[in-house]
Amino acid sequence: MTMLADAAAIHALLPQTQCTRCGYQGCKPYAEAIANDQAPINRCPPGGAATIENLARLLDREVLPLDPECGREGPPMVAIIDESRCIGCARCLPPCPVDAIVGAQRQMHVVLVDLCTGCELCIAPCPVDCISMTPRSDISSANTEPLAASNLQRYDAHEARRHERERERLRLLAERKQRVAKPSA
Ligand code: SF4
Ligand code: SF4
Ligand code: SF4
Repeated sequence: MTMLADAAAIHALLPQTQCTRCGYQGCKPYAEAIANDQAPINRCPPGGAATIENLARLLDREVLPLDPECGREGPPMVAIIDESRCIGCARCLPPCPVDAIVGAQRQMHVVLVDLCTGCELCIAPCPVDCISMTPRSDISSANTEPLAASNLQRYDAHEARRHERERERLRLLAERKQRVAKPSA
């Protein structure tokens, strides 16, 4: 049986797109589920056959085909925003795990394709459906996929900023409650 201590080693073999296609809220929860024998090793479409083989070698398990319920292994993709239709609502910014979209409220947004992992998490929140996916190889200037280590670094920074914003929100809320509870004389 796999030991929990393997979770970090398993995590290190995952692509770090945080796409959730494995059915978990990111690569780390999936790694922990594998380590706890709660998930098989064949649920990561971005990693595909190579990741399954690496996991099988690490854990001394049988190589399995990718579970089709999670998706298919395909060529690396990147998101593209149709600038003529973007309304600058900024709803695509928070879901991007690696902060690969730039723009501000009421301004046109663009994808930094060098950083885009193709996770597709920005597509559903767009109210005007102006984000689509295209093969990375079609974009001549950005044919190199970002490395897993770089994806993880950007995700950690993204999460740290998100937690900081949440702490600040809760602090302001507590301050406001205190003012309401103690009206000035
Ligand atoms: S990259 Fe793989 S392990 Fe990470 S969230 Fe996506 S499917 Fe899950
Ligand atoms: S731009 Fe979209 S597809 Fe690309 S990494 Fe960000 S959320 Fe994922
Ligand atoms: S969610 Fe869509 S419309 Fe809104 S800023 Fe992003 S790309 Fe533009």
